[in-house]
Amino acid sequence: MGRRDDTARRNDIASALAAVRTRLDAACRDAGRDPAEVVLLPVTKFFPASDVRTLYDLGCREFGESREPEASTKIAEFRADSGVVDVVRWHMIGRLQRNKVRSVVRWADTVHSVDSVRLADTLDAAVGVARDDGTRSGPLEVLLQVSLDTDPARGGVAVEEVDALAAHVAASPNLALRGLMSVPPVDSDPDQAFAWLAVVHAGVLRDHPAATVLSAGMTGDLEAAIRHGSTCVRVGTAILGQRPIISA
Ligand SMILES: *Cc1c(COP(=O)(O)O)cnc(C)c1O
Repeated sequence: MGRRDDTARRNDIASALAAVRTRLDAACRDAGRDPAEVVLLPVTKFFPASDVRTLYDLGCREFGESREPEASTKIAEFRADSGVVDVVRWHMIGRLQRNKVRSVVRWADTVHSVDSVRLADTLDAAVGVARDDGTRSGPLEVLLQVSLDTDPARGGVAVEEVDALAAHVAASPNLALRGLMSVPPVDSDPDQAFAWLAVVHAGVLRDHPAATVLSAGMTGDLEAAIRHGSTCVRVGTAILGQRPIISA
């Protein structure tokens, strides 16, 4: 891109980000909540490291990615940028295949999509190795992805199995249980889905008081998510524009 295109892109992102922040503030006000309780997590999958840098310059310090090896490559490029000095936190929000775990634990601070004991065990072991060889320091923060529908293809642990998986993650030495995540079923009423998720979250909080994060809400449904207690909205399209149509 030429310099003029670069400037146009940065301006587009700046105004889109400001519009999303305004939307978030209004949603919090309507829900009687303090906007400081809700983290905006820009989702940068499919977009280049230069867009991440633009968001960083606009004050963002946490980002969501969902695909390997795209994320590893982009994050290495972003980290090599000498203009970046502050600590940035990376979130893996997409479905995680077990053969991608080794590379993901080198960059992810938080994984939002843990939905099985098998995946939790694979992550726990890989984080142990990465801590031993110095490629990461702390434990991995984990959110359990809860399935609110009956289609197992979309990922997520069934509501009946959430308690057992939460106990398993809490007992894993290299994992820290931080909360829940969900994507409402296609064609569902988001208010109904998020209301149910809030009930499940309250149940988990009884046994795991540190599991305070509720990752819920995207471009299309963030207002409903905030009405039902979301503490983290994952927003891609409204900030960076349309992605190519590939399911991710
Ligand atoms: C891509 C993605 C998002 C962002 O969705 P938008 O509708 O573009 O805001 C949020 N959550 C997950 C899990 C995603 O994969």
